[in-house]
Amino acid sequence: SAPIPGRVTAVHRERYEVVCQHGEVGARLKSGVYYGKAENELFPTVGDHVMLQYSPGGDSLIVKTGERKSAFSRSDYSGHGAGYVKTIREQMVAANFDYVFIMASLNNDFNTKRVERYLTMAWQSGAQPVIILTKADLSDQVPQQVQQVRNIAIGVDVFAISSKTGDGLIELQSYLQPRKTIVFLGSSGVGKSSLVNALAEEDIMKVAGIREDDSKGRHTTTHRQLTLLNNGVMIIDTPGMRELGLWDADTGISETFSDVESLFKLCKFSDCGHDTEPGCGVRKAIEQGELDENRWRRYLQLKKENLFVTDKSAYLR
Ligand code: GDP
Ligand code: ZN
Repeated sequence: SAPIPGRVTAVHRERYEVVCQHGEVGARLKSGVYYGKAENELFPTVGDHVMLQYSPGGDSLIVKTGERKSAFSRSDYSGHGAGYVKTIREQMVAANFDYVFIMASLNNDFNTKRVERYLTMAWQSGAQPVIILTKADLSDQVPQQVQQVRNIAIGVDVFAISSKTGDGLIELQSYLQPRKTIVFLGSSGVGKSSLVNALAEEDIMKVAGIREDDSKGRHTTTHRQLTLLNNGVMIIDTPGMRELGLWDADTGISETFSDVESLFKLCKFSDCGHDTEPGCGVRKAIEQGELDENRWRRYLQLKKENLFVTDKSAYLR
């Protein structure tokens, strides 16, 4: 049958979720169309417009990725240890969005350097940045903080909001128009999911029924990376986007993960890769339940991203 248009809402290892005229369907890349091509950009990412050979019984096949008007990418490293620097490839994490909501909180974490960093990334993406300062209810210096941000963000709209009290939400309305796609960019804990939920509760818009609940009944976007709201606004919040937010050079990985790093001195080999080497202190701690494996994975992920910060200049000429 003739290919139909769709839009990628989630990317898993090799599977995709695509929203199309038949609803949300599972999809794979059609072999021979994508595989064997060197250019990574051809591979679809969240937000991409694709052409789909629809298959009612099983996975549909993605046969073409459309052009992108905006995109975020990050550099990825394969291998581990010394191998990291050998394989670097750009990986697209989101595409075809209109606005980048740069989110920073007005509580103790308030940091204009981070906003500046996000702003640079947003401009590079090709979309329009909008700065959302969250948790205004936790600060008694909101006007001064807003002014500080305006000083470094010439020509960019800056809003102070509180998802808790609802303050400032109505002013975001002009960006919340049908068919517009918004990327939320901000460190974990800054209030991205709270904003989506607050907007839904304020009845400005309703979250469509494609959000999933986790076991505790909370909304979670772990798998859903592009969320369609009832008024036609689409919000992208991918794990990859969160990693982008970790490119701050001041991220204190060693401080945050001192428990993990202290295990390294228990390893039999001083150059242990903490993978399959015998006598590895990390693997032992995981096996004995002393270290949460997910915490270890998060550590590895952060190290990868941080290596990018450290070595970035070498690859940008
Ligand atoms: P995300 O990781 O960026 O999605 O952040 P969340 O939306 O999960 O929020 C992280 C924490 O900040 C949660 O405990 C929220 O309840 C809290 N939070 C979010 N927005 C606000 C706000 O406007 N005011 C206050 N006081 N707390 C907030
Ligand atoms: Zn080890």
